[in-house]
Amino acid sequence: MINIALIAHDGKKAEMVSFILSNQNFLKTTKIFATGTTGSHISKEGFEVESLLSGPLGGDAQIATMVATGKVDLVIFFRDPLDKHPHEPDVQMLMRQCDVHNIPLATNPKAAYYLLKGITTALSE
Ligand code: PGA
Repeated sequence: MINIALIAHDGKKAEMVSFILSNQNFLKTTKIFATGTTGSHISKEGFEVESLLSGPLGGDAQIATMVATGKVDLVIFFRDPLDKHPHEPDVQMLMRQCDVHNIPLATNPKAAYYLLKGITTALSE
């Protein structure tokens, strides 16, 4: 089973909800981890999700650790580039860990769409 981490900054949570609803057939075959508030939005839509701490309280850092220790296969992180975030260092760390460990990372809905499409194709080969 694919382990996937979903994170959305506040200004992008509505887009995350719409993204998971559009991709529910695939996502319901995965194990979903999420930062705290993102996780509660995802769970409200009827998905099983393991929620970690809220992002500003360490959730992104927890996901970075999971990436570093091989517990996450891909990360979808809808970042809001038009807002400031107190936990920006954690966000940078998470993205760096994805690059260090060659873990696919999508930071906007279109990239995430193509990432899931690619994974579905790769799994069916
Ligand atoms: P949240 O954290 O899901 O708890 O809002 C996301 C973030 O801001 O990194």
